[in-house]
Amino acid sequence: MRFLSTRGSAPPLSFADAFASGLAPDGGLYVPERLPSIEPLLEKGPTRYPELAAEFFKLFDEDHSAEEINELFEKSYSSFEDPDNAAPLIELSDDTYVLELFHGPTFAFKDFGLQLVGNMFEEQIARTGKVINVLGATSGDTGSAAIHGLADKEGARVFVLYPEGRISDIQERQMTCTGSDNIFPISIEGSFDDAQRIVKDLFEDLEFKDRARLSAVNSINLARILAQCVYYIHAYQQLPEGHKDSVRYVVPTGNFGNVLAGWLAGRMGLPAEEFTVATNQNDLLYRLFTEGIYEPKKVNPSLAPSMDIQVASNFERFLHYHLDGDGQRTSEIMNEIKKGNELIIPGFNAGEFSATRTDDSGIIENIRKAKDLFNYVSDPHTSCCFNEMTPSQTTIILATAHPAKFPKTITEAINESPTHPSLERLRERTPQKERLPANTDAIRKYLEENILQ
Ligand SMILES: *Cc1c(COP(=O)(O)O)cnc(C)c1O
Repeated sequence: MRFLSTRGSAPPLSFADAFASGLAPDGGLYVPERLPSIEPLLEKGPTRYPELAAEFFKLFDEDHSAEEINELFEKSYSSFEDPDNAAPLIELSDDTYVLELFHGPTFAFKDFGLQLVGNMFEEQIARTGKVINVLGATSGDTGSAAIHGLADKEGARVFVLYPEGRISDIQERQMTCTGSDNIFPISIEGSFDDAQRIVKDLFEDLEFKDRARLSAVNSINLARILAQCVYYIHAYQQLPEGHKDSVRYVVPTGNFGNVLAGWLAGRMGLPAEEFTVATNQNDLLYRLFTEGIYEPKKVNPSLAPSMDIQVASNFERFLHYHLDGDGQRTSEIMNEIKKGNELIIPGFNAGEFSATRTDDSGIIENIRKAKDLFNYVSDPHTSCCFNEMTPSQTTIILATAHPAKFPKTITEAINESPTHPSLERLRERTPQKERLPANTDAIRKYLEENILQ
């Protein structure tokens, strides 16, 4: 299987090369040249998670042997609470299920992609003999998932910038209490936007980027998207007979990676009737899928911070399929989007996607509702999925974070404070971080002194 750019004018690459290159040279994102059938996987009964993931990746990866792929996935999911059932499907009522994606090392669904990416980097470092220095900015979940994907890996160091005082105490501890000497959390005296701007400046300083061997772990990474297709198949395998035919998936959405993975699985044969894009008050995708208009606005920080996204970076992949693979049109539309223009995209308010939107008061209300209706405690992101419940249609809600990561919001809603022993243990450790001004030169200097050469 080869991988093509969404913009159609970059040479096709193999899986490992597409993974290593990140962005395609024409500015597009890599997509598989065709979508293989997953029917043989669907027909199987429940399969051990690492085995299922390995079978799925063998449809795409021709660079590694079957044995290497098996090993990669056994390792990647060994850090989950129950590796064989990494994504448990919980029945809330006759027709409503929750697929819990928060049983990885950082208790958010990003572990599914980033545990894998960490191991793929490790393999790449061993194969090429070249070290990497990963640099990123985080508003919470991605940074800690990337850190836990790469902690203690030889030949890699990780530098994560985050805004001092603006992420939750637990999220900060997840990054600063790893005890790994290749992890460098940097709290900056500024906002998340400042952190992102500094990272962007450093990646655009090509001389520094090459010399420092900087790498990114962003949400456009191909391996992350494919890794996320797997839990949709895993969920399907666990559904009782009689509930498998017309399933509605409801997905907390920010960068559009999670729900895109489900939709791709649908194109490969997963029986799915509908995908509901659940946004918070940053509702660009809600408006797009209900009105057909792409109209960016300013980000407005919410109680579901990992969905506070303005430009959904994986949207380009969907657009490519929506336009029947027309690279030229994809490129034109993405250029319009980049200029910040409002855009009408025909056919968008139809099809398998629907959308729902929840503002901060709705998040609190829905946490209460999930507790009242189902005796289920949902985190603020997942709670965006509890708006319209349609009895008699099989519905799977994807739960993206453990509620114990957001004790303040949960307490406000239902006056209980969920905990998790691993998160509690973090309180006993001494945080290690560097505090620096929100200034590109200061960060560059710190990197110069600490990167792996
Ligand atoms: C990242 C994240 C999301 C958004 O997922 P996308 O793939 O960016 O749409 C939702 N919930 C949580 C908890 C997250 O960490």
